[in-house]
Amino acid sequence: MSASHTPDTAPRPALPYRGRFAPSPTGPLHAGSLLSAVCSFLEARRHDGRWQVRIDDIDPPREVAGAADAILRSLDAHGLHADDSIVFQSRRQAAYLGALDRLRDAGVLFPCACSRRELRARATAGPNGPLYPGTCRDGLPPGREARAWRLRVNQAEDLFEDRFQGLVRTRLAETVGDFVVRRADGLLAYNLAAAVDDGSSDISHVIRGHDLLWCTPPQRLIQRALGLRSPEYGHLPVLVDLQGQKLSKQQGAPALDDRSAPANLWLALQRLQQEPPPALRRASLATLWQWAHAHWTPDRLLGQETIRIDHDEAIGD
Ligand SMILES: [Zn+2]
Repeated sequence: MSASHTPDTAPRPALPYRGRFAPSPTGPLHAGSLLSAVCSFLEARRHDGRWQVRIDDIDPPREVAGAADAILRSLDAHGLHADDSIVFQSRRQAAYLGALDRLRDAGVLFPCACSRRELRARATAGPNGPLYPGTCRDGLPPGREARAWRLRVNQAEDLFEDRFQGLVRTRLAETVGDFVVRRADGLLAYNLAAAVDDGSSDISHVIRGHDLLWCTPPQRLIQRALGLRSPEYGHLPVLVDLQGQKLSKQQGAPALDDRSAPANLWLALQRLQQEPPPALRRASLATLWQWAHAHWTPDRLLGQETIRIDHDEAIGD
């Protein structure tokens, strides 16, 4: 049995707008993650909706001590105040384990014994890494023990209308293959936790970077298999340097200086192509937010995947 890939066609009553910003605490807030925070916040306000902050801390080996607190402090310093209490994924393990059991009961998961080395040797290359070669799909090879659990994908196409990127069509069999929901180290996969949280906490709209676009079809598939509603998605262009490298914590993007919050916000609005008046470069945070709410024009970002900046571009002046 495979999870269904059929697109949602039945009209559903709209949920009240509820957006979220969900950073992983692998480093402090930087100029790239600020764009997602600002955009999701402005969209929530434009729709008179609520805005949630969720810390996606389910991968301790990748986390940096103190990063979650630093991110929350930075958000506050930039006037990005969550409407509800902060959600920590590390405290929601029971919900994810329950979802894993339901997926297993539904027959869409299979245990996988393959080591990383075996996968490297057998897998063909996909656009987001190796495609699972299907070794354990019909049962574990004799004498082997389960290491991870994978979700079986089929040949059907996933279709959704992205707020910024337009129609996104994906054949999961060709982009990720049967993907991991529980890792060999026992940790739960990001896609499982994000799918459960976005699908079960009345999040109506997910605004995030284009670098996460490839995660959306797997997350939608998990939501369908669990009978959860998928939110609407919008994938923003991401900041890249002059060589086209994504500005990221992994690439050592500098932390935002919270003392320059108004200048950081002005620059974020400029990068989001809102053309804030230069006269506001030294305005207060309150004045800038007032201007941003009044002038927010997200359609300027339609169809763009990247925003190219000079890596050393000064923050403020
Ligand atoms: Zn396997």
